[in-house]
Amino acid sequence: MENINEEEKQEDDSKINEKDKKENDFKKPEEEPSIDSIPGVGPKTAEKLKETGYGNMMAIATASAAEISAICEIGVPTANKVIAAARSMLNMGYETGLDVLEKRGDILKISTGSNSFDELLGGGFESSSIIECYGAFGSAKTQIAHQLAVNVQLPIEQGGANGACLYVDTEHTFRPERIIEMARAKEMDEKKILSNIYVGKAYNSDHQILLVEKAKDMIKEKNIKLIIVDSLMSHFRSDYIGRGSLANRQQKLNTHLHTLSKLADAFNLVVYITNQVMSKPDMLFGDPTQAVGGHVLHHAATFRIYLRKSKGDTRVAKLVDSPNLPDGEILYKITTNGVEDM
Ligand code: ATP
Ligand code: MG
Repeated sequence: MENINEEEKQEDDSKINEKDKKENDFKKPEEEPSIDSIPGVGPKTAEKLKETGYGNMMAIATASAAEISAICEIGVPTANKVIAAARSMLNMGYETGLDVLEKRGDILKISTGSNSFDELLGGGFESSSIIECYGAFGSAKTQIAHQLAVNVQLPIEQGGANGACLYVDTEHTFRPERIIEMARAKEMDEKKILSNIYVGKAYNSDHQILLVEKAKDMIKEKNIKLIIVDSLMSHFRSDYIGRGSLANRQQKLNTHLHTLSKLADAFNLVVYITNQVMSKPDMLFGDPTQAVGGHVLHHAATFRIYLRKSKGDTRVAKLVDSPNLPDGEILYKITTNGVEDM
């Protein structure tokens, strides 16, 4: 654990554009038109877009003009027109509260395997959101990742999302053996379960960013309903060391989180990120541990859960931030079978 003060102080200096985060809010249409139908996108341009991972309307509608301009070798004003056209074709404007409520009906909730944990979260890990679990080593962040990678494959009636999982592994702690144990406990076909988990080992923060950006193409094809990044910050922390590089790090992190949030929203999937903690030595009252990543991460996560170890296989989960649920704390346990009720 290290001192948080330095990090906190500097983050305010980093010019993070909060507006950027909200700029691309959109809604997902029933049936997406193909990109060839965007005015100004001819067959050649369409081909270039497809080759670079912008093969669907949503990818274009949520891209920046600079990206599209570089890929298609067109001017920024033209790129802006293409993006605007894609946005209007997807009907990405305001919607009424009633529409939003209706859309909430499509939200999936992936069960953790423990009823009390699920109840704490209003039914499970919710799609269309970023859910962050932070805690010290051994607090079960990675165990929960493995369990979700199994549970997402269950039918919806059984607390799953009938989908596959994309697992970005930055600490090289993904263990197929552990998945097998968990699948066996549920009498699920372990080979099938493993073949629906797409693991990307990230070797540094740029590679991590790239793996998530490349996800767009796979999501539809493989019916991905869960994206895991375990852990979000480890590479960012080791790649950007020293005072001068913090603003730069936070900007990259902001973009990375923005990509994850767009994917969660556009494809109605769960994004689960894990995070480390550090101590705040100057704190006199309460728990002196705090998640790393600063305000950027704090604002990006829809739900934040603090995990702690207790006696034996007992673990504690505390909901510390949620848009619509009261804070609370529950006990659950980690056994050979995975995440379970006490
Ligand atoms: P880190 O910060 O180091 O990544 P973490 O929060 O990801 O930590 P996990 O790897 O999820 O921690 O948790 C490890 C703990 O999970 C072990 O200490 C052990 O208590 C429990 N565990 C791991 N595998 C099993 C198993 N097969 N059966 C029972 N418990 C297990
Ligand atoms: Mg871990």
